[in-house]
Amino acid sequence: MTEEILARYQQIAGTDVVDQLKQLAGALKGARVVHVNSTRYGGGVAEILHSLTAIKEALGLEIRWEVISGDENFFRVTKAMHNALQGFPQDISESALRVHQEINAQQAEILRPVLEDADFVFIHDPQPAPLIEFFPHRRGKWVWRCHIDLSRPHRPVWRYLRDIVSKYEATIFSMPDFTQPLPNLQYIIPPSIDPLTLKNQDLPQEEVDKIFDRFKLTREKPLVVQVSRFDRFKDPLGVIRAVRLARKFTPVQLVLAGGGAADDPEGEIVLKEVKAAALDDPDIRILFLPPDEHLTINALQRAADVVMQKSIKEGFGLTVTEAMWKGKPVIGGDTGGIRSQVVNHHTGFLVRTPEGAALRIRYLLSYPERRLEMGRKARQFVRDNFLITRHVRDYLSLMLALLR
Ligand code: UDP
Repeated sequence: MTEEILARYQQIAGTDVVDQLKQLAGALKGARVVHVNSTRYGGGVAEILHSLTAIKEALGLEIRWEVISGDENFFRVTKAMHNALQGFPQDISESALRVHQEINAQQAEILRPVLEDADFVFIHDPQPAPLIEFFPHRRGKWVWRCHIDLSRPHRPVWRYLRDIVSKYEATIFSMPDFTQPLPNLQYIIPPSIDPLTLKNQDLPQEEVDKIFDRFKLTREKPLVVQVSRFDRFKDPLGVIRAVRLARKFTPVQLVLAGGGAADDPEGEIVLKEVKAAALDDPDIRILFLPPDEHLTINALQRAADVVMQKSIKEGFGLTVTEAMWKGKPVIGGDTGGIRSQVVNHHTGFLVRTPEGAALRIRYLLSYPERRLEMGRKARQFVRDNFLITRHVRDYLSLMLALLR
């Protein structure tokens, strides 16, 4: 089974890549590695942990993934903390911080047998960060893995967390811009996608074609797709405007697909605005999808001629990399992590305005050869930089570095 998993990655990422992983893992033989986060399902972190732990296990590491549990109150506090750390000021009281500490104290006792003996402990995000305080005699190397953007944190909350995460041997951030000064070693490990998941695996053409009937799309007009939550930072109205400008010159239809708005009051408002803007337009489909429609998203990205991610603020946009892996040129907002994901003029275009986006849509739809060439380069760029195999390599190298 384990060899089978590695063989599948080898087919996609190359023999040399998997050989290198085996070599690095060989040097870590016998090491006990534990990852801890706060949810087993839902969200990008859990998704990445499923893939990471499966590959590391296949490589022969002794790996465990533990999840801390908390009550509603705990998650209310950590959600507020998350928002504050990403730059939205929140009042978090002393008693709320005590809840954070107390739940971590309880969880520390539950996890003590596993964590005390581990050689490497990776703690993901702020929720379980205080665990370290309850292990004064730890023997392993403890690393705090931050998946969020700490570039402009609300200071009082950051001061609280900074004191905690300063106790770790090392920290990992997704991008240089997301970091804060800290006294420990800092590593940059960008996110990745797993080419074997439902979201990214190859699909038979019939599966892709079904999308057209299912969502009543025409085969007569090229398809532009943006997949993202209905969020103003993703600029769905700008995408609609860009497509309307472009179609004065060339026929085009648009799908805006997203979900997750139901429990997010602002998402609902944005969805309403988008629906109002698209009202009665036969060439625009707004799709509100349940969170587990991975195959639908896969097929939509593959059915597209051009994929957009016209965000005006973005960390690392997973949808950008997902679409590029499917051989699509991406027109992305010239912001945040998208700048490192899209190589302007080579694997897609970076744009700032609907007018700029319209120009690039017209260009890509007018030159099919160029579109295909950019798509090929996009896939290669993802293969070289943003697959889960690269992610595992970074983790293994980091562990080896920490042993020195
Ligand atoms: N996604 C999804 N369903 C949707 C919208 C998005 O499964 O309706 C997925 C998308 O394919 C990607 C992730 O959710 O894997 C969104 O990550 P990204 O970094 O692009 O944006 P975020 O939502 O984290 O800001």
